[in-house]
Amino acid sequence: MHELPVTESILRVVLTYANQNNVQKVTTIHLEVGEMSDLEDEWMQRYFEYIAKDSIASEAKLNILRKPVVMQCEDCQESFQVDIRAAGEIVCPGCNGKNHRLVSGREYFVKSIEVI
Ligand SMILES: [Zn+2]
Repeated sequence: MHELPVTESILRVVLTYANQNNVQKVTTIHLEVGEMSDLEDEWMQRYFEYIAKDSIASEAKLNILRKPVVMQCEDCQESFQVDIRAAGEIVCPGCNGKNHRLVSGREYFVKSIEVI
């Protein structure tokens, strides 16, 4: 259910931008969402339509671009993308190490907005 607060914060960003730019209507919102954030596209669109229904963004479509998960190896400092759908343990391609931390993959942000 954490799509709801996320969607609210997206709407706030969009409406702030719209206010500052004399926007009549928001048509499309391009989002970048890390693959590891388990936000469901369909639920985000539904929540968005619900909370935006009395605003100029009421008919906006969410266009969600998934960003790959990136890890960095603690042993050799190599950064690498991870396919989170692949089975098995995550191993550094540089040194085969197993000590790594998440660099990106959980974030979300508004990349651009199409307006009239
Ligand atoms: Zn490594």
